[in-house]
Amino acid sequence: MDGIGPMLYEGKAKKIFAASRPDQVVQYFKDDATAFNAEKRGTIIDKGVINNKVSERLFKLLEERGVSTHFLERLSEREMLTRKVTIVPVEVVVRNVVAGSLAKRLGLQVGEAIEPAIVEFYYKNDALGDPLVNDDHLRLMNVATPAVLRELRDLAQRVNVVLKPFFAERKMQLVDFKLEFGVCHNKLILADEISPDTCRLWDMATGESMDKDRFRKDMGKIEEAYQEVLRRVCG
Ligand code: UDP
Repeated sequence: MDGIGPMLYEGKAKKIFAASRPDQVVQYFKDDATAFNAEKRGTIIDKGVINNKVSERLFKLLEERGVSTHFLERLSEREMLTRKVTIVPVEVVVRNVVAGSLAKRLGLQVGEAIEPAIVEFYYKNDALGDPLVNDDHLRLMNVATPAVLRELRDLAQRVNVVLKPFFAERKMQLVDFKLEFGVCHNKLILADEISPDTCRLWDMATGESMDKDRFRKDMGKIEEAYQEVLRRVCG
């Protein structure tokens, strides 16, 4: 495509290409799916197209609500033009309902409501398996200052305040989700993607998973679930 330069980085679900402007990059969304620190691999047909469109909708919504993001424009089915940022190597997880690793680690009941929502930090490091860390660990490793961590927590809660009711209006419970932030001109902005790969979404009518848990747990009807999320978010 015109204006797209060499590949700068390839991750598990996306590739990043240079754009015509040096302060911008193109995110290309792949169909590749991984789970359990990439021990499980597979393909979810058209996942890239769906995650690109869902992320576009959610980034635009967040921008309208005053949350700065790296989103600039969706270029094609699988390509999104974004601001170039320096990613903060912290996965910021927000939880409204007990599920996944939280249920396992603390022995809590899956489905229990968490109010107010909690925020967790994971150090983004494949070799270490993205460990759960606290503020002191991140400060010790010079990953983030207390002020940056306060801001990450605050931004994550603001994103939740926007997204939780947005999904509820579309009959989906936003159980939990993972965010990544980047630094651009000395400012923290939301980056990466927000999609059924990075959120747990439960159908409010049936309680069924409509997200990557269907892949993680071999629940079947994965493509159908992703398509349904797209329909409800963008339809
Ligand atoms: N998550 C993610 N990428 C990761 C780990 C988690 O997008 O590398 C998302 C996951 O989809 C869920 C939330 O973060 O919506 C919380 O995940 P959890 O800690 O429960 O871990 P999991 O059970 O997914 O391994």
